[in-house]
This record gives sequence, structure tokens and C-alpha cells, in this order.
Amino acid sequence: MPHSHELFTAAQKHIPGGVNSPVRAFRGVGGEPIFFKRGEGPYLWSESDKKYIDYVASWGPMVAGHAHPDVIRAVQESAANGLSFGAPTAIETEMADLLCELVPSMDMVRMVNSGTEATMTAIRLARGVTGRDKIVKFEGCYHGHSDSLLVKAGSGALTLGVPNSPGVPAALAEHTITLPFNDIEAVKEAFSHIGGQVAGVIVEPIAGNMNCIPPVAGFLEGLREICDDYGSVLIFDEVMTGFRVALGGAQAHYGVTPDLTTLGKVVGGGMPVGAFGGKRKIMEHISPLGPVYQAGTLSGNPVAMAAGLATLKLAMQPGFHHDIGKKTDRLVKGVLEKAKTHEIPMSANAVGGMFGLFFTDEPNVTNFAQATECNVDRFRLFFHGMLNEGVYLAPSAFEAGFVSAAHSEADIDATIEAAGRVLSTL
Ligand code: PMP
Repeated sequence: MPHSHELFTAAQKHIPGGVNSPVRAFRGVGGEPIFFKRGEGPYLWSESDKKYIDYVASWGPMVAGHAHPDVIRAVQESAANGLSFGAPTAIETEMADLLCELVPSMDMVRMVNSGTEATMTAIRLARGVTGRDKIVKFEGCYHGHSDSLLVKAGSGALTLGVPNSPGVPAALAEHTITLPFNDIEAVKEAFSHIGGQVAGVIVEPIAGNMNCIPPVAGFLEGLREICDDYGSVLIFDEVMTGFRVALGGAQAHYGVTPDLTTLGKVVGGGMPVGAFGGKRKIMEHISPLGPVYQAGTLSGNPVAMAAGLATLKLAMQPGFHHDIGKKTDRLVKGVLEKAKTHEIPMSANAVGGMFGLFFTDEPNVTNFAQATECNVDRFRLFFHGMLNEGVYLAPSAFEAGFVSAAHSEADIDATIEAAGRVLSTL
């Protein structure tokens, strides 16, 4: 990819690492990132005019495919009226009404500009409402890069949280407790000691940032019960799962109702958008109604709202999620069959349009420890082989893949065949 190589070299002069978000730099898979210039439907074209079937979908937003005509038209029409007013617009109410209809656990919702802002504020709100400081999160779940959430586990479940980035004050990190995902007994044990100090529990209801790991039966229900018992706020981070695994997100798919929900990605249709919402009695604590402060110059931006609404309307078409789920299942089963043929140990998880492939003997990957034991070297070879075949997977063994409504059966077949050729060389 000589063209991308030149662009990447130039990018590194004034952009740290040549990228505006670290995982784009291909550090997880080696080599250099591809620079793209165009997307349409399920495809991306590089600056060197190579065409790829895309399973990254801009890390989630493009659930209807790239450059969908409805979304582009909505953006163009909105942009023609001006880009931002810093004052209320009717489309913000339209968005809020629709979100509260699609996600019934939300009585009220506030728009922000990223998933990071949504989760950061949800945590502040949980703390502000309960008057408590501690937050519980889970190993391998990612909730954006705010200080309280860039924390990993200490050596034992109940030891103090340790910052996992310089710049995060230890005094703040110690309020974040990290527990093993899918281990409800560990949560019960932790709460039996410190439950009365826990403001909130934040969880990806389907983990998508350690590859793709669905909740085991009873895990989300158990979190709901524990939060009720101890008066802690249950936050589902549906930035990735929202409007993807079902129109109502993972909470609709599993039938468990959180107190607060964070959203991003699909809700902006590719524009920088996030949202958080939940029960009225909690949301009324947010400024200007209440004392918990939160604000944003560009929040609820009309062009971004237009892109998000157009995308949500596409996702509301009958059969939208069912079709994506069927295609995803076929993709995953097809790749697993090829792996079996070529005697490569592999397992997979998939929920709706979200999937994860694991190079492992373990038939059922359910937690972070298992995810990190997978053969990362083999993933790297697979990733580059697929790239060569014109299939763009997430450049990390620890990210979920996404199928969009735009992927055709022929795209899925082509991907399975490509995977077969690559797996035969591993
Ligand atoms: N929560 C989850 C579950 C995410 O997957 C992400 C981003 N991958 C975030 C929060 C942060 O969102 P953003 O990158 O928009 O800040």
C-alpha cells in the first residue's frame, strides 16, 4: 500500500502516531494503517483504489452501510440551513422523543458529542444522585477515556483501582473497582463489603471491547438485583449495542432494565454524537433542572441529529435487525467451518449484527482472561491475509466485528471464501 505508506509518514509529522485515535494505528496487528477516501454500502476504498468489504463500520455507527442516500440527503439538507446555533432546535426534541420511545427505560435523554462524554456524565450523575463515590466496572469492558473509567483492577477484587494511564490521579482511580465480567458471585462478594458506598455499576451488556462476549445467563439480572438491594445506579453502556443487537438495544434483547443508558455510534449515524438517559427521577438531577453539571457547545448539533435520525429511521424498518442477525450467523458459521476444515482451533460469539472470532481451543469464551489467552499472533496473520483478500476487519484481536444492513449475501459468501483461503495458509 505505497500510497497509504506515504500518507502515514506525512501524518506522523504533526499527529501523534499519525492517528487521531490509537487503535487506528495498527499497533495490535503490526504494519501500517490503510488510508480510506470513500465508503459506499458495505465497501470502503483506499487512497490506492483498493476495494474492501468493511466489517469495522467506523467502529459501529454505519449500521445501514456507508453513505446511505437517506442519511447523506438529511445531512445536506440540514447543513444548508447552517451548521450550529447553540440554541434549541426542533430536531433535538424529535430525537429525544424517538430515543425514549425506542428505549423505554429512558424517560429523559441528554445529547452529547461522544460515547466518552455519555459515560463520564452518567457516572457523575450516579455519584451526584447517590452521594457516593465508588463505581464498579468490569474487566475488559471499555467505557471511553474519562479518568474514572481508565482504571484497571488491583491485585484482588477488593483492592484499590490502579490508573491504567499516567495522568489519572490515583486518588480518583481508587474509587473505581474492577470485577471479572460474567462473574455475579464476585459482584455479590464485593457488594457484601462495600455495597453501601457504590454509586453505580457500569457494564457493557454485551462486551464488545474484548472481542465480543455476551453476558452469561443471570449476569445482567443479577446486577439488576444487587443494584436494587444496595441502592446503586445500574448503567448499561449501550454505546456499541444500542440500536444494533435490537432496536431497543441489549436491554430489550435480554429483558433487563437499567437505571441509566449510555448511547453513541449508531445514534449519530457517523457524526460525533453520544447520549445518556434514564429514569426521570435520576435525570432531573442534571443541570439546569438539578445541580449535577453537564453542558456542550455543540451538543444536539442539528446536522448530527439529522444524520442520527435518518439512520435510526432506517434501523426501524421491519426485519432490519433480524436480517443483520441472520447474515452475521451465516458469516460466523461459515468461517468456523473453514477453520475446522483447515484444523485451526477457533470459536466465535455473535449477537445480532455483532460478532467475534477467537483463535482458541476454548469452545465458549465468556470472560476477559479467556479472551486474552487467544492466539494473537495467529489473529495478526489472519487479519493481514484477509486485508490482502480485500476484507477489512478491526485491526485488533480484541474488538468486535459489525455486519451492516448493506452487506449482501454475496459479500458474506465472498468473505467466507476469503477466510478459507487465508486459514489454509496459517
Ligand atoms: N462505550 C463503549 C461500549 C464503547 O465501545 C466506546 C467506544 N468504542 C465508548 C464507550 C466511547 O465512545 P467514544 O469513542 O465515542 O468516546
